Amino acid sequence: MKTNLKSLSEKDMAVFIESLGQKPYRTRQIINWIYLKLAASFDEMTNLPLSLREVFNKTAYISSIILLKRQISRDGTQKFLFELEDGETIESVLIPDNDKRRLTLCISSQVGCAMRCGFCVTGKLGFKRNLKAYEIVDQVIAVQRLLRNERGIGFVANIVFMGMGEPLNNFEEVVNALWRLTGIMSFSKSKITVSTAGIVPGISELAKKGPGINLAVSLNASTDEIRNKIMPINKKYPLKALLNACKNFPLPIRRRITFEYVLLDGINDSVQDALRLIKLLKGIRAKVNLIPYNPIYNPPSPPFTKRGMFKRPEDAKILAFQKILINAGITAIIRKSKGEDIKAACGQLRAGYNIAHSS
Ligand code: SAH
Repeated sequence: MKTNLKSLSEKDMAVFIESLGQKPYRTRQIINWIYLKLAASFDEMTNLPLSLREVFNKTAYISSIILLKRQISRDGTQKFLFELEDGETIESVLIPDNDKRRLTLCISSQVGCAMRCGFCVTGKLGFKRNLKAYEIVDQVIAVQRLLRNERGIGFVANIVFMGMGEPLNNFEEVVNALWRLTGIMSFSKSKITVSTAGIVPGISELAKKGPGINLAVSLNASTDEIRNKIMPINKKYPLKALLNACKNFPLPIRRRITFEYVLLDGINDSVQDALRLIKLLKGIRAKVNLIPYNPIYNPPSPPFTKRGMFKRPEDAKILAFQKILINAGITAIIRKSKGEDIKAACGQLRAGYNIAHSS
């Protein structure tokens, strides 16, 4: 069987290349080709002798996720549907910033998701499988290749693990991917954010084993009672434990933890919620991203028309919520939804899978 070079660590790559009777410097060459020059085949590696490329072609390959579909939103957001080696599919989203050339890539860490948050469509798929580190990294490589071929659009400046899946439920592979991205691929650790629904042990492990990237926590509620209802994971790791883990998460100076807060009309958007949120965040260097709910069924089909359908609060209510936080000295940003017309906004990723409309 041929060896997938993208599945090898740098050390294993060196062992493999030496096992073919090659000089050690070839390892660095191949790694640079794959991760810096984004080569998808040995034939692209023009500084390798032809005979050597043939040896590689016989013994190894460089896996690539396959782009099945690319959609571009009115607001410039792009959504990519990728196929993996076993036919499963995932989505990644490329989001423009104010500075148009600096793009943020939102990547997936699992096929499906086991968290089953009530407001997010990915959870409705259930959990299918974890991504391999190279499948996580490959989302970055594939998009970088596209951007390179389309000179001028911009480049991936930020990476957020906010696509499909719960990154801290796929800890090993996510951490491996983080080291690859911040290592050979040279992404700054301050430009990478891992977002979690609140896997408490994963948060402290990430601090120990990760390369020191940013943490985001999907808080989404101000009491255990509300959070239990919309995020089942809260029953396992309630707010107190979650916020404790956040307090203990080591932060370099000027860094803060981002707390995402999906605003659901009549559920978690009251003045009391805002005041409780301020209390919860006391003692944590925090900023809050308020995300007005994005519809996940369009058009809504039963039983969601009757019960359990969430609604986005009116703008005035969203602004009022933000103002209470700001007045308490908390940085609170309203994250305008990007890519809603192509179902690329937060909570809308389902990678073409069909959802049974049952709750
Ligand atoms: N599982 C991780 C990574 C996914 S991040 C996590 O939960 O953090 C996806 C973000 O989108 C989360 O902050 C989630 O709260 C938010 N989200 C999910 N569904 C949404 C919806 N329908 N509208 C707005 N935001 C949503």
